[in-house]
Amino acid sequence: MDFAYSPKTEEMRQKLLDFMEAHIYPRIRQYEEESRAGQFPVSFMDDLKALARAEGLWNMFLPSLRDDEPGTGLSNLEYAPLAEIMGRVPWSATVFNCNAPDTGNMELLHMFATPEQYDRWLKPLLNGEIRSAFAMTEPDVASSDATNITTSIRREGDEYVIHGRKWFISNACHPDCRFFILMGKTDPNADTHKQQSMIIVPRDTPGVTIERNPTILNMLDHEGHAEIIFKNVRVPSGNLLGEEGSGFALAQARLGPGRIHHCMRSIGAAELALELMTERAQERKTFGRYIAQHGTIKEWIAKSRIEIEQARLLVLRAAWLIDKVGAKAARKDISMIKVVAPQLHTKVTDRAMQVFGAMGMTPDTPLADSYTWGRALRYADGPDEVHLQTIAKLELRESNGSTSAIHLTPPER
Ligand SMILES: Cc1cc2nc3c(=O)[nH]c(=O)nc-3n(C[C@H](O)[C@H](O)[C@H](O)COP(=O)(O)OP(=O)(O)OC[C@H]3O[C@@H](n4cnc5c(N)ncnc54)[C@H](O)[C@@H]3O)c2cc1C
Repeated sequence: MDFAYSPKTEEMRQKLLDFMEAHIYPRIRQYEEESRAGQFPVSFMDDLKALARAEGLWNMFLPSLRDDEPGTGLSNLEYAPLAEIMGRVPWSATVFNCNAPDTGNMELLHMFATPEQYDRWLKPLLNGEIRSAFAMTEPDVASSDATNITTSIRREGDEYVIHGRKWFISNACHPDCRFFILMGKTDPNADTHKQQSMIIVPRDTPGVTIERNPTILNMLDHEGHAEIIFKNVRVPSGNLLGEEGSGFALAQARLGPGRIHHCMRSIGAAELALELMTERAQERKTFGRYIAQHGTIKEWIAKSRIEIEQARLLVLRAAWLIDKVGAKAARKDISMIKVVAPQLHTKVTDRAMQVFGAMGMTPDTPLADSYTWGRALRYADGPDEVHLQTIAKLELRESNGSTSAIHLTPPER
């Protein structure tokens, strides 16, 4: 077993780190100022995207590429350490066309799009010309159980008619968002996991109304986590993705690699929080000592280091497994990292905020926003409890009584 990154990964890491140093870190303040002033997307985004693409730092998340597709063709294991670097500045993923939820949609379209869907929707996404959203969650039903969703997709001649209400639809408010991949029910009477289908809905279709963009923990995300009404929305039948009734299977296929991306970005965010915490703790004194010299703080620093290393190994192993056996066979590991990484993200960031004192809650450090996003990730792509349930279910299924020989025999009475 070799724990070192491959030469190819090291080369890409260095390239990405250089790009971050030269072009991303110097623009953090400008990004904050412009987006707070309502300028979104920020003025330099298109220029940075063009630069990143010219330097070969583009679509790095997508493993199998056709010859005519822009990207690097890295495996999940090779991409994971790059996602970690992007996690230090959340908006940087957009510069490299590696941002959710477009990445998940690109993966889905890559696997299942018809030639027409490919040309109209996937090509401009791969080129970073448009954005997209994924619409599954609904306010009226507990959506962590995707079989609950009620939005209807009804066939009428050459069209499908869509009725329903969705919320927390990330990216929907981005000015460049052109379409949603929507999950709804085509046949509520079919078997539980065959009722759902996915369909492409252009955002400008009559009947689509973005009602509001709720803040999360009072943080406004300009890309949006929007509440959207779909009322008598008509799209051509050719917009259906895959077969009628395949929506549930498509949703499963969509989520594997994307969880690696989120989790590695969370590790990057935790790593940054630890760096900030250790630096700050060595700058300020209380009760005659640097904050870093107090035992409690030393323990926080040590625990953070241990927990980050544990989580990183677990996520890299899950990425390796997806490459080897596919997302379906790796689902227990994917659920494990989905529980571990967002909790790590919030735990380490929370310690860092505490070390910064009151300043930790303000926008003067990236910690408060980072905490908010880490907290959101405990719901997005399925809440912790659902993943724990998956892990337990698989663990129980795998248990086969093989330990019976190891049991101690109770003393005879
Ligand atoms: C910032 C953000 C972005 C998001 N982006 C998107 C997006 O782009 N598209 C999209 O479709 N959705 C998105 N979501 C929604 C997210 O996927 C859902 O919130 C999530 O699936 C949970 O669904 P729910 O909110 O309906 O919670 P519910 O299903 O109502 O569940 C509530 C709680 O019940 C508990 N629970 C549920 N099941 C179990 C169980 N089996 N055992 C024990 N406890 C359980 C959990 O604690 C859970 O948090 C986003 C959410 C956030 C916060």
